[in-house]
Amino acid sequence: MSHIPGIAITGASGRMGQMLIRTVRDSDKARLVGAVERKGHDWVGRDVGEAMGGAPLGVIVSDDPLEAFAPAQAIIDFTAPGATLEFAALAAQARAVHVIGTTGMSEEEIAALEPAARHAVIVRAGNMSLGVNLLTQLTKKVAAALDEDFDIEVIEAHHHHKVDAPSGTALMLGEAAAEGRGVALADVSDRGRDGITGARKRGDIGFTAIRGGDIVGEHDVLFAAAGERITLRHVATDRAIFARGALKAALWGQGKQPGQYDMVDVLGL
Ligand code: NAP
Repeated sequence: MSHIPGIAITGASGRMGQMLIRTVRDSDKARLVGAVERKGHDWVGRDVGEAMGGAPLGVIVSDDPLEAFAPAQAIIDFTAPGATLEFAALAAQARAVHVIGTTGMSEEEIAALEPAARHAVIVRAGNMSLGVNLLTQLTKKVAAALDEDFDIEVIEAHHHHKVDAPSGTALMLGEAAAEGRGVALADVSDRGRDGITGARKRGDIGFTAIRGGDIVGEHDVLFAAAGERITLRHVATDRAIFARGALKAALWGQGKQPGQYDMVDVLGL
């Protein structure tokens, strides 16, 4: 049993936290060894399976991440930027692979992961699904093939609980388009249009965010020129695709050299 990697899940009660617990529970390649919630959460001290309304899983929800990480070979973390930074230091201390699905991290917060990545493997991606990672590669190719006669717009839609915009996936796609064009996204990114913005600037990459209902995640990359348009589209209908990708990353990271990786590395795209 012990050669099967132990996994600890942070934000256990969250939408992704619960999906990750079910995914690890149902996998024969990993076992659940820890579940973390923050101090004061009513799940703390309860069996995580029972807290989710099902059968007990033999793992008690802890508010002490270091204790929960100690028996784990990987931490899967879909929480919030501040929490993820704290977990990165503790995961590195435990020499566990840290799989980060948290989005909305600033450049400074991403840079602050570097000390942890000197001691342990970090796999971070704004989207852990196979389809979206393939879409980033396609976006890069199409952007490289077309010139600036084609305006690039990234349009995304998510459920009404989502707190950050544009989505981490939209930014990944924008980065891929910018890379294909050989420019820095920061120099061409056009976000949050409102009022008299002036005409669209040639070469810009625009972002639009739709928020509503229970939309799991939809992303279009539009290449629009005079007389023709191309749209690359990914539609997620089930959060399980992100959880399966995250578990794949946790297993892939075992025995790898410390450093920062993404899903393109994991999937070998
Ligand atoms: P959610 O339902 O709000 O869950 C977030 C969880 O994190 C909750 O359990 C929350 O606990 C916990 N949390 C938040 N701040 C914390 C802190 N400071 N310390 C400890 N725990 C904290 O959100 P979600 O929909 O699961 O999404 C979580 C993250 O994953 C978001 O950044 C989202 O964009 C991202 N995401 C990424 C992918 C991907 O493929 N990369 C896919 C889907 C979602 P409380 O309930 O106590 O606040």
